[in-house]
Amino acid sequence: MRTIIEPFKIKAVEPIRMTTRAEREAKLRDAGFNVFLLRAEDVLIDLLTDSGTAAMSSEQWAAVMRGDESYAGSRSWYRFEQAVHEIFGFKHVLPTHQGRAAERILFSVLCQPGHVVPNNTHFDTTRANIEFTGAEARDLVIAEGRIPSARHPFKGNMDVDQLRRLIDEVGRDRIPLCMLTVTNNSGGGQPVSMANVRAVSQVCREHGIPLYIDACRFAENAYFIKLREDGYADRRPIDIARELFSYADGCTMSAKKDGLANIGGLLATNDGRLASKERNLLILTEGFPTYGGMAGRDLDAIAVGLHEALDEDYLVYRIRSTTYLGEHVSRAGVPIVQPPGGHAIYLDAAAFFPQIPPLQLPGQALVVELYREAGIRAVEIGTVMFGRRNAQTGEESPAPMELVRLAIPRRVYTQSHIDYVVEAILQVWERRADVRGYRFIEQAQLLRHFTARFEEARG
Ligand SMILES: *Cc1c(COP(=O)(O)O)cnc(C)c1O
Repeated sequence: MRTIIEPFKIKAVEPIRMTTRAEREAKLRDAGFNVFLLRAEDVLIDLLTDSGTAAMSSEQWAAVMRGDESYAGSRSWYRFEQAVHEIFGFKHVLPTHQGRAAERILFSVLCQPGHVVPNNTHFDTTRANIEFTGAEARDLVIAEGRIPSARHPFKGNMDVDQLRRLIDEVGRDRIPLCMLTVTNNSGGGQPVSMANVRAVSQVCREHGIPLYIDACRFAENAYFIKLREDGYADRRPIDIARELFSYADGCTMSAKKDGLANIGGLLATNDGRLASKERNLLILTEGFPTYGGMAGRDLDAIAVGLHEALDEDYLVYRIRSTTYLGEHVSRAGVPIVQPPGGHAIYLDAAAFFPQIPPLQLPGQALVVELYREAGIRAVEIGTVMFGRRNAQTGEESPAPMELVRLAIPRRVYTQSHIDYVVEAILQVWERRADVRGYRFIEQAQLLRHFTARFEEARG
């Protein structure tokens, strides 16, 4: 087989400023060893997130120029609505400024204290918006989805027996909706199979519970179904996506992922009564229902991006380049969450640095080393992000896993950039025995990973 090339030429370039190790050392110290506090210009390869970081195509930039900035009923809105209808098929569409705004509106209308919302794994903003209404967010991913080294083609699947048990336990009346996140972001970007969507949908329909898809990475999920599920090899990604959405009653989506846009989102539903309640909330905080917090030009960029994300040549390259990174580091023995997901590779920092105990933050140590070695910015998903500190005693408790996520922005980096990342990871791997842990010297009560400062742990 030939090399899979980037299915695009480059029309505009954004220079990367090279830095020396000594410069990076100084930047790290200034930033208190927290890469969130670095300036982007001091980063060579930025793998902090795949959200809103995509490169737009020439067609999207042309669409930006077509943007109609009329307050009400703009042409851009109709093009956006049409694209969403063509792909998602839901009757009512509400534009939002990003995914979490769609979540807030949906849950404020549907949820109240005492309610329970099942999902394969709630993304953090989804969970926070559910909990904000007083309802409970319950993760029901299959057992394999909780074990980094376990291999399963659809590790994002929901455990359907657990869903049935939950309905029996709390009663249908306390479950205002069920959700499925495709692909399962918090579970390593792992896909959900069509069979699982169908099974979950059937259980929901038996009990009259609406099913909503968290559709952020619907195109990547559709492509995994094509690759891995019987009966889909010859289907187009758009047809797979349409079938998947046909089993649901609505969706939330961040257009910053598979919308290939830098901002935007949407909420869709087949329920007309719900849609009119949602529209009232939309007007209150987002904007008029034909723009919902976005400029006309954003609506147009998304209308084009949603279709481009389903282009098969793009998806081959997208999934292959993530897998390529995962395969090249794991072949050398580097422990990662298996199999590689759609949008990111997750390094298992606890296994990478067995000499660093969880409370000395092995994930943070790995993030620091990747920047120090090669100017790569990754994100810790471990005790810094999810560990807990007892406010009275100051005692720390570790997170269940110590991961470092390398999220791949869409269409931004080429294979040589990825090769550079592979080399850097392997260089840190070579000298892993000499790396020491970190400790907090400053931290906020909430969401501490964004602003905390650290120092190297002594002994
Ligand atoms: C990014 C994301 C969201 C939230 O979207 P924002 O645009 O960041 O508000 C919700 N769910 C999943 C699965 C996501 O990846």
